Amino acid sequence: MEIEEKDKNYLFHPMTNLAAHEQTGPPMTVVSAHGSTVTDRAGRDYLDAMAGLWCVNVGYSHPEMADALREQTLKLPYFHAFSSMGTDLPAQLSERLIEMAPVPMSKVFYGNSGSDANDTQAKLVWYYNNVLGRPEKKKIISRRRGYHGVTVLSGGLTGFKNLHDGFDLPLPMIRHVRPPHGLWEREPGQTDDEFATALAVELERFIINEGPETVAAMIAEPVMAAGGVIVPPETYFPKIQEVLRRHDVLLIADEVVNGFGRLGVPFGSNAVNMQPDLMTVAKGITSAYVPLSAVLVSDRIWQVMLEGSAKYGSFGHGYTYSAHPLAAAAAMKNLDIIERDGLVAEVARKGELLSELLHAAFADHPNVGEIRGRGLMAAVEFVESREPLRPFAAQGAFAGAVYQGALAEGVITRALPAADTVSFSPPFVVTESELERMVAGVRTGLDRAV
Ligand code: PLP
Repeated sequence: MEIEEKDKNYLFHPMTNLAAHEQTGPPMTVVSAHGSTVTDRAGRDYLDAMAGLWCVNVGYSHPEMADALREQTLKLPYFHAFSSMGTDLPAQLSERLIEMAPVPMSKVFYGNSGSDANDTQAKLVWYYNNVLGRPEKKKIISRRRGYHGVTVLSGGLTGFKNLHDGFDLPLPMIRHVRPPHGLWEREPGQTDDEFATALAVELERFIINEGPETVAAMIAEPVMAAGGVIVPPETYFPKIQEVLRRHDVLLIADEVVNGFGRLGVPFGSNAVNMQPDLMTVAKGITSAYVPLSAVLVSDRIWQVMLEGSAKYGSFGHGYTYSAHPLAAAAAMKNLDIIERDGLVAEVARKGELLSELLHAAFADHPNVGEIRGRGLMAAVEFVESREPLRPFAAQGAFAGAVYQGALAEGVITRALPAADTVSFSPPFVVTESELERMVAGVRTGLDRAV
């Protein structure tokens, strides 16, 4: 049986139209990859403009990552961290993360994915409020278009209806508010600052309406990724945080995509003036070589966690793979490479080029509503009409056609069913000529789609 037949017959694909897959099987079977290029079974090369799913930041098949993982596998492939047990690399990694965190943080809790880390965040804020004797303060505010994962809790935090449908999500304590997506949400004539003020005023009204004594936290990506690379106005987070502080609502920064240099600065919180109480990282922490996520907690939270020991005894949360030594080895080597090769500065430099290329290729097209981004993270949003501004009626179909057209050109981008955008998030090691070919491939995809 061919691989594609085995895939079609036996593999239950994530985030896939199952009925369509049953008919067609996989469009390609990736069998190897190097740098920014993935190769399929037929030997065809594709430029991966998405670094997988916004994650293979040091590029595919880095020999130093392979060496570090082999060495650690032969030394200590696994030991757990339950009941105070320790291993060496996770302890070192924790010190490193606390030292590099964009705001003062105190402790690191490890998981395996962005989704489980955001579930941990919810449990932490609930535990925090239970220890403080405020059991009614439990609601978590998220934003429409925000992406925070797919587990029972984090799937509800994710602000996409199509990821709730059929799953009875979100859970009842989750609320969604408007995102800072200027193209659709800004009133005509509003400046960036006025738009930010309007969203902050709206959030405050929302919290007051819900009852501040019932609202525990807000979660937000500094720059939204899957929602269409939405960069907030400069004053948005400072104004939002003023509101949150007034009502004693914690802020969780979801740095799963932004963290470790994607925006050309070390963390998204640096880029958007965010001062989170809790922070989620994953993806770029190991460049996806081994699954790993982490939750960073500030001292304010940590002191309450400590009080929790007296009230509840042993902290009753943790995974078999929390603080996995192999994942920690991948993270340490990945961070070494990013630091030694100056990759964050490279992202800033290449990000400028990506922005220039995108504007040159797309700005004048009648179906392009907006080009936006920061660092090596960008999106082109398509509209049915620019004047008057009107979205496509069948949302996502046009971007899907652009994606298919680009794929035929040998470029992998990403289109979301819930937003008419294609995204760019290439590996940090992408070359200038690869960036040019990526943009040209997607532009050809657009020409094919029209
Ligand atoms: N948070 C953000 C910002 C993400 O982009 C993602 C995944 O794309 C997640 C959380 C969920 O991470 P995972 O797919 O590892 O569960």
